[in-house]
Amino acid sequence: NKGVSMDRPAWAPEGVDMQQASPARMYDALLGGSHNFEIDRRAAEMGKALVPDLPRLALSNRAFLRRAVRFLADSGIRQFLDVGSGIPTAGNVHEVVQGIDPDIRVLYADIDPVAVAHSRAILRGNSRAGAIEADLRKPAELLDRAGETGLIDFDQPVGLLLVAVLHLLSDEDEPVKKVADLRAALEPGSYVAISHLTSEMRPEDAGKLGANASDKSRVGIHFRNREGIVAMFDGWDLIEPGVVELPVWRPESERDRHEAPGRSLGLAGVGRKA
Ligand code: SAM
Repeated sequence: NKGVSMDRPAWAPEGVDMQQASPARMYDALLGGSHNFEIDRRAAEMGKALVPDLPRLALSNRAFLRRAVRFLADSGIRQFLDVGSGIPTAGNVHEVVQGIDPDIRVLYADIDPVAVAHSRAILRGNSRAGAIEADLRKPAELLDRAGETGLIDFDQPVGLLLVAVLHLLSDEDEPVKKVADLRAALEPGSYVAISHLTSEMRPEDAGKLGANASDKSRVGIHFRNREGIVAMFDGWDLIEPGVVELPVWRPESERDRHEAPGRSLGLAGVGRKA
């Protein structure tokens, strides 16, 4: 049982490396979740020591996700493919959209086995939602696997969610091309929602957090400038208000203002395939 500690919790699939921080579990720790290990909590603490308002960024991102999926459901989208969906936490996509229309289908895809296992656990009994382990860096495989679940019909418009995941891809992973590959598989009338960590407003803080992860208690985050993030929407028609700071994308109430405008560490937008 290589790499598996005796005290592996029941929710962690066998073979998970408990000594290596993972972005999914570190984000769960930042949001106050309970599906994370000591090394992930240490990664979250290190991040907070560098940038104390980091938990607000996580909340701000979750609030954008909720607003974006509500917007897509209200725009007629009846199936969602959530790539880099993470460890389920309050206000998951299926909860939000199936609250609008219980027939809406949701497929979660993540590279992290803890995220997939926990997603499957909470989706038990929900025939219109599922979770697959898949890698955004291999879009063709991801699309095949998504099709096999029967939850996504690629002949109908899809709501593609790439929320807080593309900054985990390095430039060598060609994130812009990966988005384009996914877009090519989708019908006109499909939408994409993207949020991405940015160096645009707070270059110094982005620099502190964005260092390469050579240490096991760090995760590699690639903060990008506005231009790099706008490029991900190539081929999509941007929905108003365009690519903007997280709290500024169609805020619904004061409660959405987790970060002060001008100070957000994330940019976000929604695009439609014409
Ligand atoms: N989308 C959720 C949200 O915004 O609240 C979770 C975001 S979490 C910060 C990023 C997720 O992307 C993690 O669960 C991580 O495992 C996943 N991820 C990282 N690289 C990935 C890849 N190459 N393919 C699929 N998922 C990936």
